[in-house]
Parts: sequence; structure tokens; C-alpha cells
Amino acid sequence: MSACRWARSLQLTLAVIKPDAMAHPIMFDTVHQRILDNKFLIVRNRELQWRAKDSQRFYHEHAGRFFYQRLVEFMSSGPMRAYILAHEDAIQLWRKMMGPTKVFRARITAPETIRGHLGLTDTRNTTHGSDSAESACREISFFFPDFDVSRWYEEQEPLYRA
Ligand code: ADP
Repeated sequence: MSACRWARSLQLTLAVIKPDAMAHPIMFDTVHQRILDNKFLIVRNRELQWRAKDSQRFYHEHAGRFFYQRLVEFMSSGPMRAYILAHEDAIQLWRKMMGPTKVFRARITAPETIRGHLGLTDTRNTTHGSDSAESACREISFFFPDFDVSRWYEEQEPLYRA
């Protein structure tokens, strides 16, 4: 069984504060504070800016969709902050905190979520989060090529068990 699927008390996920939220310090601070308030362990974090080709590679599954070009341009339009976060059920917790992809839906059905609170449009929706254990592994490697997920689960995660 791959490291992505091992049952652990702490799970890793990849979270990103997108360029729209990074452009406004109060939006960045609000999202970062929610990470802290929800007691995520920040395993790594870095600021980076993509070129269009990075954006295309990351979102290749959306190639051909009507919003793809807009998404590629937006995600390479300014700095982002990427985090490797650890928490019990980190993937599901961060996805729940982000809220629905589409901002109008988020505002109506989940105004307390990050996207419901701060999202600007369906594309400029503040944050990204991995949606499965496999995508967390893949996306962590994309943003943090030097980070060894398997090694973290083997060596670091046991140190946080009760
Ligand atoms: P999520 O980010 O919630 O996992 P998806 O993987 O479906 O959502 O989409 C990736 C990103 O593409 C979204 O976060 C958003 O920025 C953009 N996007 C998705 N659907 C739309 C849409 N219908 N219109 C505009 N942008 C969209």
C-alpha cells in the first residue's frame, strides 16, 4: 500500500492561498489565521509564482473547459503561498474550510467558509486544497519537490501520536 493511503492519526494535505487572496494582506491574514485557529501543523510553507506552463501542467485535467485559459492566466498572475498542512483528516477538514468551488454557491450555502467569505469569482476563489490522498501526494511533490511524503509519514508522523 502506498504512503498516500496509510492510515495515520495525522494526514498531510496541500493547501494554497491563490493570487487573489495574496494580493490583499487582510485576505491573506484571514486565511492564514484560519489555518492557525484550526490547529493545523504547518509542516512547510513557501511563497512562489508560477509561469503559465506551471499552471497548465497543474490544471491539465481542465484543459478544454471554458474557464481553462482564465484559470491558467489567473494562477500565474501573482504570488501564491503553498502549505503542507498536517491534521487529523486534513484533506477533508481543509476542503470543508474552503467551501464550494463556485463562489455564489459558497456565499449562499456556506457563507462561513473561506470562499463564502472572501471569494471574488468562480475562478478567483481564494484557495486550493487537495481532494484525495493520492492528489495530496502528487500536489505536495509538485509544490515541494524536495519533500519526501513517505519519509514524513515514517519518521515524523509517529512523533505526533498521543
Ligand atoms: P476545486 O478548486 O474546488 O477543487 P476544481 O478542481 O473543479 O475545484 O477546479 C479548479 C479551479 O478551477 C477552481 O478552484 C476554480 O479556480 C476554477 N474553476 C472551476 N470551475 C470553474 C467554473 N465553472 N468557472 C470558472 N472557474 C472555475
